[in-house]
Amino acid sequence: MKILFAAAEASPFIKVGGLGDVAGALPKALVEKGHDVRVVLPLYSSIKWEMREKCQYLKYFYFMHGWRNCYCGIFEANIDGVVYYLIDNEYYFKRRAPYGEFDDGERFAFFSRAVLEILPQVDFIPDIIHCNDWHTAAVPVYLDAQYRWREGYEYIRTIFSIHNIEFQGKYGLDTLGSVFALPPDWESVVEHDGCLNLMKGAIERANAVNTVSETYANEILDPYFSFGLDSILRPRRYKLSGIVNGIDVKAFDPATDPAIAVNYDIKTRADKVENKLALQQELGLRVDPDVPMIGMVGRLTPQKGIDLMYPVMEELMKQDVQLVVLGTGYAEIEDFMRFCDAVYHDKMRAMITFSASMAQKIYSGADLFLMPSKSEPCGLAQMISMRYGTIPVVHAVGGLKDTVIPFNPMEGTGNGVNFQSYNAWDMYDAIMRAVGIWRDPDQRDQIMVNGMSGDYSWDVSADKYLKLYQSVL
Ligand code: ADP
Repeated sequence: MKILFAAAEASPFIKVGGLGDVAGALPKALVEKGHDVRVVLPLYSSIKWEMREKCQYLKYFYFMHGWRNCYCGIFEANIDGVVYYLIDNEYYFKRRAPYGEFDDGERFAFFSRAVLEILPQVDFIPDIIHCNDWHTAAVPVYLDAQYRWREGYEYIRTIFSIHNIEFQGKYGLDTLGSVFALPPDWESVVEHDGCLNLMKGAIERANAVNTVSETYANEILDPYFSFGLDSILRPRRYKLSGIVNGIDVKAFDPATDPAIAVNYDIKTRADKVENKLALQQELGLRVDPDVPMIGMVGRLTPQKGIDLMYPVMEELMKQDVQLVVLGTGYAEIEDFMRFCDAVYHDKMRAMITFSASMAQKIYSGADLFLMPSKSEPCGLAQMISMRYGTIPVVHAVGGLKDTVIPFNPMEGTGNGVNFQSYNAWDMYDAIMRAVGIWRDPDQRDQIMVNGMSGDYSWDVSADKYLKLYQSVL
């Protein structure tokens, strides 16, 4: 199958969040299964030099986007068998960071059109164009509105993946022609709630829509989770599905991770405690193998459910536990964590920074990993923690519900602990249940084995994507 994967970020070139991980890993997994997969992304000036060096200049051409005659350079790279096309236009992509500019709508309208314009230029007519999030949501719309008549474009099928429904690409309707270069009779396709909404257009025009977990695919049919798009999704649920993400099991491997004090695997899992002792030492906490350490790594934003910590922090800190938090985000939440660090300094550390190596030390050193997200399209951190033998404690929502199976001490099944209602004391109760499991040597061992033996690779999910592609062809 010939697949073109269009995304605004793709690791190892550029990564801002989970989308970058997926766009880096899924094409690789599909190539390993024998398919011709190419990835198209913008050539941002913020791409690291060592990756930029790997890109070869291919050609340039101009195309019309509405009234603009746009320069479009194409660079090419081949990483692990995946061909990457990087779209060069310094006016749009020579910026501070990939997103967050006042003209993001125009920048990604250009990029979405470039995805379609380069096909004959690189001599690649895909069977499937796989679009991701609002940045490439215009591709299925442009394809149907303006490209179907071109030779080779007649039978291309489109998939639209929602990694986060919160960001939809919403603009004033007056931008329809001027910025997005769509004809007036296409207004109804992209219009929603009085705005031009690119994600809505993609949901309407793509041959299939999917999200990054099965539960999230159901949840976004409900106004509580949908950020206004449930009325659009419900009538189209026939083409909506969910496929859970994998993680890079080579990069996240406690047996080889260079960032952690002592490497271990499922057979030598008893060595994991050495990482806790090293972390306690490094952070100046009481060095004690018998105190359960709770870890948290992630963005400090309301979506991650940190507000549930406020009412229970005092009670939690009365218990014989340690808490280590790593993250950045909203100033209010960062300040709360700094405050707790100061007040409960004998038991808690808050590191308000981004540090990949400290994250690994927490995944390997902590005994429990807390992730009380209010909503979670998929979530990677809980899978990483299970791979490192750390017990996840999660709110049963989205991808957390699909990947964390409650531990059943009678049958020895399950890999974590969850709570159902989004409620601080339910979360507290779940933490205490997890502490109870951890304090029981047999249960601790069983839950670690269950977590560490799980398959978090992309292999299974890549097969599901292939099935999805086949279903629309
Ligand atoms: P999201 O994509 O919503 O931010 P995920 O759980 O899917 O959440 O992925 C977050 C990833 O980013 C994880 O690999 C996590 O370890 C990493 N991460 C988040 N915050 C930090 C931080 N402050 N330092 C290091 N790594 C972080």
